[in-house]
Amino acid sequence: MTEAQAIPQTRKRVLLAKPRGYCAGVDRAVQTVEEALKLYGAPIYVRKQIVHNKHVVSTLERQGAIFVEENEEVPEGSIVIFSAHGVAPEVHEQARERSLKAIDATCPLVTKVHQEAKRFAAEDYDILLIGHEGHEEVIGTAGEAPAHVQLVDGPDGVDKVTVRDPSKVVWLSQTTLSVDETMETVARLKRRLPMLQSPPSDDICYATSNRQHVVKQIAPDCDVVIVVGSRNSSNSVRLVEVALDAGARAGHLVDYASEIADEWLAGATTVGLTSGASVPDDLVMEVLDHLAERGFTDVAEVTTADERLTFSLPQELKRDMKAAATARSAEAATLAAGAGRA
Ligand code: SF4
Repeated sequence: MTEAQAIPQTRKRVLLAKPRGYCAGVDRAVQTVEEALKLYGAPIYVRKQIVHNKHVVSTLERQGAIFVEENEEVPEGSIVIFSAHGVAPEVHEQARERSLKAIDATCPLVTKVHQEAKRFAAEDYDILLIGHEGHEEVIGTAGEAPAHVQLVDGPDGVDKVTVRDPSKVVWLSQTTLSVDETMETVARLKRRLPMLQSPPSDDICYATSNRQHVVKQIAPDCDVVIVVGSRNSSNSVRLVEVALDAGARAGHLVDYASEIADEWLAGATTVGLTSGASVPDDLVMEVLDHLAERGFTDVAEVTTADERLTFSLPQELKRDMKAAATARSAEAATLAAGAGRA
């Protein structure tokens, strides 16, 4: 008997997906801003939302982070942090021109896709980048090799593709796409371009695929699936779509428990609950409390993967943290020596 089947269907229950919430890249990016605020003091400028979550952004704003859209809004000589979604090389260049101290919180798994784009461009491939037009990550990746990259925005974008040499084409992708839809896009591309090469390793990241996989497991048993996440969070929006495709009767995206309408729960026996990769788990716990107040007191956590990956902080920040720690130790030693002489 599966965990999902363990509770009789006549009682109101919640199937809580695991993994859910923060991934290693988001954790690192948020910690980067927090540590920078501690080390350098407020304000710290952050180009774009550090991660696509309303709650995280407003929490960091209260601590002294200032979110801007472009480097030109950052006063010359200030510190600027680049978001987890990555930036094009020209953004680093602009920061140098304004004498900004840049700290790059790009997720290492996004950086990996940038490296692939650079490598295939250097080998003069046409690169078909599957992703959502206008998404920050796609702009950053395409910016690594603008002359070689064409965006393919889902299966419907395949017919517009034109390549110079069909034997020298590779596809890459945004990290937070629907796994199934991307495979459909690739299948269509391969029908047009049989020699199309695949990326050396999966570009859709472990966190995106793990969160989609567990939602697929619970969705068929759910009257409604609630995904905690923001509307501009690609991986969160995908989770609602995946839940509906996998058989959930309804699916909704909310930033906060207070956005859950009582009519969504009317007549429901089983509610599925998960969250996007940029969502702190206390928001999910608030949804559980909200559901418990409405009779959904039985909670079964359905686990399909154990995530242990962590990423270390950006080098430039670690270097300054180490220097500050060394300076503090030296100061303490000087004070202790002075006290000894007194
Ligand atoms: S969702 Fe994936 S690519 Fe994006 S920050 Fe998290 S681990 Fe990195």
